[in-house]
Amino acid sequence: MLGLMQDSPLLISGLLTHAAAAHGKRPIVSRLVDEPMWRYDYAGLAARTARAAHLLRSISVAPGDRISSLGWNTHRHMELMFAAPGIGAVLHTANPRLTDEQIAYTIEHAGSTILVYERSFADLVERLAALLPQLTRFIMLSDAEHTIPGSVGAESWETLIAGQPDTIDWPRLDENAAAFLCYTSGTTGHPKGVVYSHRSTVLHAMAASLTSAFGLDVFNCIMPCSSFYHATGWGLPFAGALNGCAFALPCDRMDPASLHELVLGEGVTFSGGVPTIWTMYLDYLGRTGETTAQLQRLVIGGSAVPRAMAEAYSRTYGVKVLQLWGMTELNPLGVVATPTPALAEGGADHVDDIIWTRQGRMQFGVELRITDEENRVLPHDGETSGALKVRGPWTIERYYRADGSTLDEDGWFDTGDIATIDGDGFMRITDRAKDVIKSGGEWISSIDIENIAVGLPGVKVAAVVGVHHPKWEERPILVLDLYEDADVTEAAMRAHLAPAIAKWWMPDRIVFDAVPLTATGKIDKKTLRARYLNCLDE
Ligand code: ADP
Repeated sequence: MLGLMQDSPLLISGLLTHAAAAHGKRPIVSRLVDEPMWRYDYAGLAARTARAAHLLRSISVAPGDRISSLGWNTHRHMELMFAAPGIGAVLHTANPRLTDEQIAYTIEHAGSTILVYERSFADLVERLAALLPQLTRFIMLSDAEHTIPGSVGAESWETLIAGQPDTIDWPRLDENAAAFLCYTSGTTGHPKGVVYSHRSTVLHAMAASLTSAFGLDVFNCIMPCSSFYHATGWGLPFAGALNGCAFALPCDRMDPASLHELVLGEGVTFSGGVPTIWTMYLDYLGRTGETTAQLQRLVIGGSAVPRAMAEAYSRTYGVKVLQLWGMTELNPLGVVATPTPALAEGGADHVDDIIWTRQGRMQFGVELRITDEENRVLPHDGETSGALKVRGPWTIERYYRADGSTLDEDGWFDTGDIATIDGDGFMRITDRAKDVIKSGGEWISSIDIENIAVGLPGVKVAAVVGVHHPKWEERPILVLDLYEDADVTEAAMRAHLAPAIAKWWMPDRIVFDAVPLTATGKIDKKTLRARYLNCLDE
């Protein structure tokens, strides 16, 4: 027997229609490349998204067609993020931080013929056009005056949408239809495409909104600092619309002073992004003596959040840091570190000890388990570590254009992370499988050492990698990237680490060097390992 409720598909257009109907006047402001700040509201977003949808149809975009974008966190990019899936097309949010060859690979793999991009990418697009004869239409996310046609003959977004109707009957699509195509950064091999559906995106937005996760409501003003091209901005455009949150969109200006201007000027209460942005912002606050006004929460993830940073935000500024762990293959939310009554029983310090040192706790919709090398399920005792596997309605089943499923024999997706899980559902990543350091047969957690190392004032980024050792096979070395006037010595770092880690975890060498980052802002350990591989051999 089936339920007798309405069979109403979960669609991305539904989020926008709801926001316009229930929160039409909630403001959305956007910085733009070389243009003044844009100000409108959900009613305006809905109207212009309708025009954008008509435009796409008028240039023959059909359901299932892919469109690629190279966009910042701007209102025009957001309009495209609602318009393209709204009519059943699939938006490939290309990552401009990849190499030209990788970007070209993803656009070609996506099979797009239309490229929509910001003015900042005019030169990049000239180079891409030479590699991608399949591209036939180039649209710049600018007004007419700021559009650079170039040799590709780019047209202005504003001019193109200007004459279109500002209402639309969004089609009733299959909720399992594809909506977005996001590529992993491909630190090993080619980038791999992950196809989000309307259903996975809407469910993800609902789950992200919960108080056990981001805790969003209509009183919030979100400043999304997770790039819209990275796992579609962690779903913030959709969770924001679902709740009627105001938006302050930073474009590409994620430097602390620019962010601070938005925080103060637009009443930002909520933001999120990778740790490096928030480490720099914290440093800025310390240097300038500025305060964070009404900012309440920061969701930080993509790589491990240093405890010292979470502690400083909380104790000095009263801003709650919620660590999240996720990945492109998860739409991308996996877990978020929020307290529980069980933790609270242990007192405030205990709550802090757990939520500042765990990636997060299980959320409905993302089942977690850890397994050993024979795929045997390991206990959730907070001690045993194993390969972290996930499953659920917004977890990948297969990569775009892959022959078969990417799941293990039991139907779980192997995240490539190594983790522990405790009895309360808190998960802690100890390493990425490919970054694990094995010294004399024993595991050393690079993330734990990095976390402690960045706690020493003056350290901007700390990276621990395993390099070759003649006796122990592999030993950790610590690479420190310091703030400009910092005065951190090797001896000071060793004294800082000694009481906090096992003796045999102490890095064999501490070097001061710039730490390279990947296209998604993570420490590029592959490059560092290659650079220092034989430094302990002499
Ligand atoms: P990439 O394309 O760089 O792989 P993803 O965002 O998909 O981009 O990367 C996901 C990976 O990032 C995870 O598998 C995990 O290793 C790492 N990661 C994400 N969040 C955290 C976190 N809070 N702590 C530690 N590692 C994290």
